Amino acid sequence: MYGYFYDLTIESCDCSKEIQAEMEKKAIKRAYSDKDLFSESSDGESDEEAAVARKKKQSVPIRKYSETFLAFAFSESEDYKTPRPLCLICGIILPNSFMKASKLRRHFMNKHADLSGKPLSYFEKRLEAHRLRQKSKSE
Ligand SMILES: [Zn+2]
Repeated sequence: MYGYFYDLTIESCDCSKEIQAEMEKKAIKRAYSDKDLFSESSDGESDEEAAVARKKKQSVPIRKYSETFLAFAFSESEDYKTPRPLCLICGIILPNSFMKASKLRRHFMNKHADLSGKPLSYFEKRLEAHRLRQKSKSE
């Protein structure tokens, strides 16, 4: 394998000088054009990048409640600016960043594993009861 490769390079030695010269020319050309490109647009680009970075910092994504979370006994609490997951079993309210199936499932499996076999209708009933409680509280 190695020998074959070695032979090839020897054979192509005649024209390799030409190729090398050509490649050097291209490299020089590229270096110049890179430089031009850089000096022309670097200011604009960096501004844009900074703007994107600022945007990223400012807007923390707000996670939304999905009805599928009810399978993990989670409803959403509307007592906050951002929706927060509310456990219908123990009443804990988790931060908005926990509004994710994986995190809610972890809470459910850690704290309420005994309810994991319950059908969705069971959690719907819990949700209904919770809503009735909230209603009577506010009245
Ligand atoms: Zn819970």
